[in-house]
Amino acid sequence: MAVAILRFMIASSDGGCPGPRSRRPGLAFIALLVPLIIGCSAPPAPARAASVAAVAAIADPRLAPALEALGRATPSLGPAVAASIRGRIEADPKGFLALLDSVLAERGADPWRFARADKVAPPLPSGFEPPDLVALDGKKVAIAKDGLKLRREVLAALAAMTAAARTEGLKLVVGSTYRSWAYQKAVFAREVAAYGEAQARSESAEAGRSQHQLGTVVDFSPIDEAFAKRPEFAWLSARAAGFGFSRSYPEGLETVTGYRSESWHWRWIGTAATKLQKDYFGDVQQYLLLFLSYR
Ligand SMILES: [Zn+2]
Repeated sequence: MAVAILRFMIASSDGGCPGPRSRRPGLAFIALLVPLIIGCSAPPAPARAASVAAVAAIADPRLAPALEALGRATPSLGPAVAASIRGRIEADPKGFLALLDSVLAERGADPWRFARADKVAPPLPSGFEPPDLVALDGKKVAIAKDGLKLRREVLAALAAMTAAARTEGLKLVVGSTYRSWAYQKAVFAREVAAYGEAQARSESAEAGRSQHQLGTVVDFSPIDEAFAKRPEFAWLSARAAGFGFSRSYPEGLETVTGYRSESWHWRWIGTAATKLQKDYFGDVQQYLLLFLSYR
């Protein structure tokens, strides 16, 4: 159906308007005037090339399942957000599919990388522990306390990012990383006891609903509002995506993520996913994760 509509649009833009030349003398002048009168003309070359590329991509069998997934995710994303994402995909389906292919291949090799750990998705299993946790002690990263662990690939990305920040005179200090299900359960109980259930829920996750259990999250120190004012935060906002890190809880998205903004909490998803997030999902991690959970 979409192909038929696009073919119709291209046919209309090519053939619906008379061309500037006519073989019949006398009609040439009218042929020149008609496009001006009815307000149409042959599309400029780039637009025509884009239309042809769009048709080729829609004919691409990889696009239909992606758009179907977006359709299934629409009740969660909201219609306006879903329409905006769809618009970006349709403007550059080839670029979208190339990045999506990389992300799906990464997920095939590592199913937990894009797992949802939020207030809506089924909680992570209590027995789930990432398979390749590595201690940060003695590695080329600055830590605020001992005993921190991350997945192997995430530690490598963090070390590279730390080195890059250092060349610009900035020091990234790691305050919190992997948390087990049992540890998160204790953290949440402590928050409820200290601040009451409502505040605890806006700031802390129940066991099985924390991204920290995935072993791919770094809370940079200091873990409080002060971090947003530090140059390290500005640097991360500009550069972290290049190392595969994405901020999970930005300002103004509390109803989407379920949490108040956290400047210090960054999740590693890999560079193909951070680019996919930026170019097609409004640079909102939760939108990308929601979409992927339906694909
Ligand atoms: Zn955190």
